[in-house]
Amino acid sequence: MSNRRGFTDYHVHPGYSIDAAPVSIDEYCIKAIELQLAEICFTPHLEVDPVRKHIDWFVRWGGKVHQMDDWRWLEQYFADIHAAQQKYYPDLKVKAGIEVGFEPGYEKQIEMILSNFPFDFVLGSIHCLNHIAISSKKECPGYFMHKNGTQVARDYFTMLEAAVKTGLFDCIAHIDLYRRYGKPYLGNSVKIIHQGYIERILQFMSDHKMALEINTSGLRRGLNDLHPSITILETAVQQGIKFYTTGSDAHSIDELGKGLDQAEKILSKYSLSITTFTNRQPERPERVDKPTHSTIK
Ligand SMILES: [Zn+2]
Ligand SMILES: [Zn+2]
Repeated sequence: MSNRRGFTDYHVHPGYSIDAAPVSIDEYCIKAIELQLAEICFTPHLEVDPVRKHIDWFVRWGGKVHQMDDWRWLEQYFADIHAAQQKYYPDLKVKAGIEVGFEPGYEKQIEMILSNFPFDFVLGSIHCLNHIAISSKKECPGYFMHKNGTQVARDYFTMLEAAVKTGLFDCIAHIDLYRRYGKPYLGNSVKIIHQGYIERILQFMSDHKMALEINTSGLRRGLNDLHPSITILETAVQQGIKFYTTGSDAHSIDELGKGLDQAEKILSKYSLSITTFTNRQPERPERVDKPTHSTIK
């Protein structure tokens, strides 16, 4: 337990996300204090692809499932966050984040939502290729069965590059998500298909002071590894990325904080420190070289 002191979980799905357990923000905060986390940042899903409206565009609140584009849920979400911030400070810092499933062509809609609410942290994610969720064990065969490594890489990284270049996101979540379920279809090539794409994407992220997430969900979902792979993390370091968040991608209370010790360990190995965010600005709360340019984004 004590080894979790000071860790930060910056990828947590509260009960608003319909693919998560119906756990309240308050319950997660109590658990976070038990685990001695320093900060928790909630990141409910925001999905924008109208092709998947009947699958993804739902949120749970007030004991019911609502349409995601009934934006009252975000008002309720911020009310929950503010209540938790007051209740648990200084034992725990509570941040309001969101995880946006990127889909090209819907940048304006994403921007509208992000500019209307005072988020602390915005994660950008590629969950779907050809409108199929490669993040879903059930759905992903519908995509992977018809693709080879070259095609997967082209589809995934073209979309990732577009996402990064929108400038809408503070951090990229699980940057090599195709590894989660892609290996049975792609074999060992899954380890190398990023080559030729990831370098310039990471360079762009570095130039624009974007953060990269160390996501521990792969440790629990059959991958037995973190996102990103060590190879990709080493490339990120070489390309000069300075900001790294750590997140469990918890969809239930027992997943909160899982694997953060391993994420921290890997960051220390490369002399990197954990970044936190307030009002969408990166901070370095503890130790290591504090930059003087603390307001950069
Ligand atoms: Zn995700
Ligand atoms: Zn997530």
